[in-house]
Amino acid sequence: MEHLHSTICALATPPGEGGIATVRVSGPDSYAVVGRIFAPIRKEKRVADAKGYTAMLGHYLLHGAEMDECVALFFRAPHSYTGEDVIELSVHGGTAMADGLLEALIDVGCAPAGPGEFTRRALENGRMSLTQAEAVMEVIAANGRQGAALAKSALDGRLAKRIGKIQTALQTLNAHLTAWVDYPEEDVPELSDEAFVKTLTDQKAELDALIQGYSAGAVLRHGVDCVLLGRPNVGKSTLLNLLAGFDRAIVTPVAGTTRDIVEQAVQLGNVRLNLFDTAGVRDVGDDGDAIEAEGIRRSWKKLDEAGLVLAVFDAAQPLGEDDIELARKCKGRPAIAVLNKQDLAGECSDVPRGTLETYFKKIVPMCAKDAVGLQALTDAVADLLGTARLDPTAAQLCSARQLSAATRARDALTEAITARQNGFGLDAAAVCLTDALQALFDLTGEDATAATIDEVFETFCVGK
Ligand code: GDP
Repeated sequence: MEHLHSTICALATPPGEGGIATVRVSGPDSYAVVGRIFAPIRKEKRVADAKGYTAMLGHYLLHGAEMDECVALFFRAPHSYTGEDVIELSVHGGTAMADGLLEALIDVGCAPAGPGEFTRRALENGRMSLTQAEAVMEVIAANGRQGAALAKSALDGRLAKRIGKIQTALQTLNAHLTAWVDYPEEDVPELSDEAFVKTLTDQKAELDALIQGYSAGAVLRHGVDCVLLGRPNVGKSTLLNLLAGFDRAIVTPVAGTTRDIVEQAVQLGNVRLNLFDTAGVRDVGDDGDAIEAEGIRRSWKKLDEAGLVLAVFDAAQPLGEDDIELARKCKGRPAIAVLNKQDLAGECSDVPRGTLETYFKKIVPMCAKDAVGLQALTDAVADLLGTARLDPTAAQLCSARQLSAATRARDALTEAITARQNGFGLDAAAVCLTDALQALFDLTGEDATAATIDEVFETFCVGK
């Protein structure tokens, strides 16, 4: 791969105004190219002699002209982020000085780095696993402290370790099976059916736990798209304002004033809600306002797409047809019924809870106008989305690719267990087991076949 042999450079800090801008250089010629454009303040110093983990002050040169002051940080292969020779050059922030520096580097033979190329090199040079490389992106993209903690646990290699444990258990089993099937003349102990199924079941449970934690983890890292629905005047805008902490939508006592979808991100406990306030849901009929009808159509569409639905009802009024229609559409979705205006409803709400309970997993009484019930809503959301049960320091899958590989592995194990329970031979189960291992190796980016073969000879010495 040609790109492995080139020396690359790129701006490592975000573009825009700031105190410092850092350009990273990585590759076999890092010291040579930087040596040509870096003039140390102390004339006796030379870039080529710089030891790893040291710094040097100087100026960079563009077409021979002395430019900005520049601090060079040196890393020697393999003790660097990419595993190659790396030099980080810091100049004054803003883009002008960094742009000049990049131009100077490219002039003397550096190639501009492609997206994620430093991390890709780190992966190819064995500095990190595939799951860690993915976690780098997640750490950068994470919002909120818990999301960052979650991504960091993958970066620390905890996810790789958690998957590694599953791999080891399955590999040992596979090695045993392979030895037993392929070397019948050797003294390989027979595998009891019970032990076989137990190992598969245990590892399947591990994978199930990882798969189940994925969506809650994604909610912590990226937030959840949330839609507020309810017929006009139930208090949706009031609730939105309560969540947002200031007057975002115009609240009026006249029905049908909220027509546009208002986007707003608010933090509710440890979850970020990407909120969509929608036009009040009600049947406008044929002679209804066309713009309002369009707003309502969009509301129903949002309901299909949202990761969380807050359906608002007026506790002081009996359920109308529009309310029932909304409740029905919420069935089976991640939806919470907010019974608003508890202050007007008094002790006995006019809304029969039993009816709502058939459609919603959670019902939260509130008085949005007076900020009553916000904690109960926070708890209900954390519980419904599973974030309450998730340990942010535990390893979790952190990309759709990882989820798909883990799911493939889990399904293959299920198949292996079923095959065995239905009386198929060990060789049939072994095929499923190999599929599961392949999926896990895809997950971590390793090569299954070689690893499995190694294991066979390591544990059983059948080749002798
Ligand atoms: P929307 O049409 O669903 O967005 O409803 P609004 O948020 O505009 O609220 C309609 C009216 O109900 C406003 O006059 C609010 O002040 C009032 N309201 C909202 N929440 C409550 C509540 O919890 N108790 C009482 N008494 N009034 C409320």
